[in-house]
Amino acid sequence: MKTLGLIFLGPPGAGKGTQASIIAEKFSIPHISTGEILRNAIASGSELGKKARDYVDRGELVPDELILDLIRDRLCQSDAQKGWILDGFPRNLPQAHFLADLLGEINQACQCVLNLEVRDDLLVERLLQRGRKDDNEETIRRRLGVYHEQTTPLIGYYQEQGTLYTVDGSPDLEVVTQALAQVISSKSNFNTEVEI
Ligand code: ADP
Repeated sequence: MKTLGLIFLGPPGAGKGTQASIIAEKFSIPHISTGEILRNAIASGSELGKKARDYVDRGELVPDELILDLIRDRLCQSDAQKGWILDGFPRNLPQAHFLADLLGEINQACQCVLNLEVRDDLLVERLLQRGRKDDNEETIRRRLGVYHEQTTPLIGYYQEQGTLYTVDGSPDLEVVTQALAQVISSKSNFNTEVEI
């Protein structure tokens, strides 16, 4: 059976999480959000949560070693064998290299990297409206800085691999979903069962 592996790239506030969860449901594959995993770990007070909390609160990336084993375990679970959406991972080049090795090892592949593009001023506006704990102005600025510095090199990396598709994330939610679903269906030979 062919798996449908998708990576969602894009700055904080681009709508990755929202779109990833809609698309995951439409294509019946798990939505794996490292941000959500970390927030749950922090809320439960687990070892991972204790180690991650200060970084997340400051808007910095948590150290790679906290994330890598977690991704390996998650992608090896049974529900991930028919596909997955990675949202928030990889977030820097070492994480992308780790993922490439891991996928080779477990005989899986990423068909599309969906890059959601939104201008910075709209991102800040959206994040301030959302008002999560790490959505205050200072942390937002740091997360955007971290994104531009550490995550944007992935755009070139996946472009070279020929798997990058850029979608405008600024229109209405349904318009973006439609555009994403179209790319996925045409590039992966997977079709949604439900009408979009
Ligand atoms: P956003 O994309 O809106 O910033 P996320 O939910 O993706 O929100 O991530 C929230 C925070 O979780 C990040 O600011 C970072 O501290 C941490 N985080 C999430 N994914 C990773 C990752 N792959 N590597 C390191 N830190 C991460």
